[in-house]
Amino acid sequence: MSKKEILNVQELILKFQKVHNNNFDYSKVVFESLTSKVIIICPDHGEFTQQPRLHLRGSNGCKTCIKLRKKIR
Ligand SMILES: [Zn+2]
Repeated sequence: MSKKEILNVQELILKFQKVHNNNFDYSKVVFESLTSKVIIICPDHGEFTQQPRLHLRGSNGCKTCIKLRKKIR
């Protein structure tokens, strides 16, 4: 992914929402770069921080959610 693919925070949030099916609240996201951590809010577990480039991969959501998912399986 090149830097030019994401121009602003609205675009970044749209991509997040697509990858994560609107699971998270992105109202606190301040986009600086794909490697500067942003605040993402899990509706069940609260705020966490993550690099946008990792969040866009889809596998890295809320850590507590991931733990719970692993327990169930
Ligand atoms: Zn969660």
